[in-house]
Amino acid sequence: MRTLLTLIACCCAITAASAANDPLISPSTKSAVAGGGTGSIASIRPSSPGSSSASASASSSSPTRKLTEREREAEAEADLSAKIAARLAIMRANQQARAAAAAKAKKVAAATPPAPKVYSNHWSYEGENGPANWGKINPEWSKCSTGNRQSPIDIRDGMKVELEQITFDYHPSSFNVTDNGHTVQVMLSGGNFLTVNNRMYELIQFHFHRPSEERVNGKGYEMVMHLVHKDGEGKLAVLALLLERGKPQPVIQAVWNNLPLEKLETLAPSTVLDPLDLIPARRDYFTFMGSLTTPPCTEGVLWLVMKEPVQASPAQMALFSRLYPLNARPIQPGSGRIVKESN
Ligand SMILES: [Zn+2]
Repeated sequence: MRTLLTLIACCCAITAASAANDPLISPSTKSAVAGGGTGSIASIRPSSPGSSSASASASSSSPTRKLTEREREAEAEADLSAKIAARLAIMRANQQARAAAAAKAKKVAAATPPAPKVYSNHWSYEGENGPANWGKINPEWSKCSTGNRQSPIDIRDGMKVELEQITFDYHPSSFNVTDNGHTVQVMLSGGNFLTVNNRMYELIQFHFHRPSEERVNGKGYEMVMHLVHKDGEGKLAVLALLLERGKPQPVIQAVWNNLPLEKLETLAPSTVLDPLDLIPARRDYFTFMGSLTTPPCTEGVLWLVMKEPVQASPAQMALFSRLYPLNARPIQPGSGRIVKESN
């Protein structure tokens, strides 16, 4: 009886109406359900052994009739119990099947990789794709906004020390010129090296910015050249040459003479240029750690900024300004980094 009551309690959601229509429940059970008056399963459950109504009814009936009633009651109880158990088993099986199907669908969804998002590689010096948004355009450029060793900086409060001289091992080299849409860039054939801190870096390319990206004690220059070097481990060192108005510069003239007529085209002249002709007579410099000044703004770049500016003629300056009137990243926070300078 206790088992039956538990079963009834468990399936209280099954109404008499649904039980009456259920083909799994026999007609005799249906009539027992329907005969309950209120229509609920609870209303047709047999009396419990200790209930007063059952004992009162039993005491007033004949022994033969009591036996028959008990038999019927037991039969109905067993029949109902079996039907409810069968129905519960079906409900549990259905529930398990639904859960399994949902889990399978979830697994399939998890196993299917989302379509890769395509990020833009377009950046500029102004507007929506300007320096303030570089870090948001492409996740690979996040250092542009989250880095703490970004370039350029306003160089000030340097520690004056006896810095080791930079050794230049530069030679006349073949070269080509490209207007890459952000600047004019000159690629050099190999074999040009600078050595500093006992490390040798090879000159790969140089390019121009207007106005100068670096400042010295707040002072900006009309232009700057960046000579990008790489060592055997792939570490970068950038030598910055600040440009001021003065006499014509022969290396810059050789580059201007060989500008391609269209952007993204490369012109490879048969002449050579000697990068050593760019280096000022006085070799004092500032040095600090920084980054590329264009996306992806990679950090870990050794910066060497020559103190003495290099002269270029007003006509040479004007020619570049026709191509790029502004291609300089704004000053970035120093973030407590150490700047050393030649004494
Ligand atoms: Zn640069």
